Amino acid sequence: MTEAEIQAVLEATGVIRRGHFRLTSGKHSDVFLLCTMVAQHPRHLERLAAEMAAPFRGAGVEVVVGPAMGGILFAYEVARTLGARAIFTEKSDGGMALRRGFAIAPGERVLVVEDAISTAGSVRNVLAAIAPMRPTIVGVSALVDRSGGRADPGAPVRAALRLDVGMWDPQACPLCRAGVPLTEPKA
Ligand SMILES: [Zn+2]
Repeated sequence: MTEAEIQAVLEATGVIRRGHFRLTSGKHSDVFLLCTMVAQHPRHLERLAAEMAAPFRGAGVEVVVGPAMGGILFAYEVARTLGARAIFTEKSDGGMALRRGFAIAPGERVLVVEDAISTAGSVRNVLAAIAPMRPTIVGVSALVDRSGGRADPGAPVRAALRLDVGMWDPQACPLCRAGVPLTEPKA
């Protein structure tokens, strides 16, 4: 799939929403992504996960790990296409942790999968959660990188679709200045 085809699927399934939003990072944006809208369609998820996996084929990925909830379905489907296993981290004490018996052996080759990256905060939390297990981090695969390539979680990021959308600190937000009502999306 081309990036234009991927964007068309995300527009058609209601992933890409436009308006004036407060993101979980606290920043304001004119675009909000609801990636579960496309993940509810296994047919779309399978094709998108194949695109997310493509840069890492032949990289010997053994484990795919994603942050709950958004990363779970994408990690599972990417793992399926790579022949790896899929696990997920969950929120814990302000960070993330592996629970439910999930573990990574020292040196295992790990791909971190996330649905959408903006500040890459949750990817950093995943990396911090698994670091004590001493994995080999192969990289980070996202469905969408909405940072225009600026997000740096500390490992190389590949995204199936790169969007450069507006993202501002509240005091610098042009939509606030223009008096556009702010939405607090509940994802
Ligand atoms: Zn604003």
